[in-house]
Amino acid sequence: MVQWDTSPDGGVQTWIVGNWKMNGSLAQISAFVPALLAGLPAGWEARGVRIALCPPTPYLATMTQHLTGSHVELGAQKVHPLESGAFTGEVSPPMLADFSVSLCLVGHSENRQLSGESEVFIAEKLHGLFASGIRPILCVGETLEQRKAGQQEHVIQMQLTEAFSASSEVQAGRRAGDVAHLPHPTVSDTQAQRLIVAYEPVWAIGTGMTASPEQANEMHAFIRRLLTERFGAATAAEIPILYGGSVNPGNAGSLLSQREINGALVGGASLKAETFLPIIQQSLS
Ligand code: PEP
Repeated sequence: MVQWDTSPDGGVQTWIVGNWKMNGSLAQISAFVPALLAGLPAGWEARGVRIALCPPTPYLATMTQHLTGSHVELGAQKVHPLESGAFTGEVSPPMLADFSVSLCLVGHSENRQLSGESEVFIAEKLHGLFASGIRPILCVGETLEQRKAGQQEHVIQMQLTEAFSASSEVQAGRRAGDVAHLPHPTVSDTQAQRLIVAYEPVWAIGTGMTASPEQANEMHAFIRRLLTERFGAATAAEIPILYGGSVNPGNAGSLLSQREINGALVGGASLKAETFLPIIQQSLS
């Protein structure tokens, strides 16, 4: 796997990231990865797009072997903020780094909702990943109820603010009931240069419902404004903001053509080369 820190042609990077969730098997990987690599157009890596796959944790080692020599990067779905310790079943940032993991999802709505991950824990994960040189993909998004109530901007602002805050600030905030068991500093401008944000409206994940390209672009522009206020215009302009939520070969083109959408976080459609490849193709054109 070959990694680079800036877009080969300058400017904000475009990313197409596959999130397999709790899907896949050794057999599926043996069929999928060669088909994906064979289907990528020659020289794709010089066209300003980066591709990554986030398999379930047990498959990271085998995925590292399959992806060696390619430009497709390896991402993880889950991590614990600390380096080591009595945290049964957890995986640390240095462990991920041992397997050439360069990205990790943080704050995915399925983890916020199903595993009850707090804003404080999400903030701590960012710091654990930065310390190990792994780029966090910070997922934010509102529920359908929140959108119907017109609260989408408020929700995104709260999620970003708390993720970037020092734990003492977070504790003093809206979720005062959270126990911040690990102190962490606020996200620095330098760390922000390694950040990726994914806007994933919860109502669009795995439902077949997608935000319209205009709806998504509007929210991305709002996120860019918040990032600018927090980190300054130069840094904010370089933070990729991906869209996620039922992206498929039929809607990828119109979403990716939006000015503020710098790529896609793809769930279901990333499980098969025949649906993932056309999405990648549309990011290249
Ligand atoms: C996701 O898992 O982040 C996601 C966007 O899933 P899907 O594409 O299946 O909606």
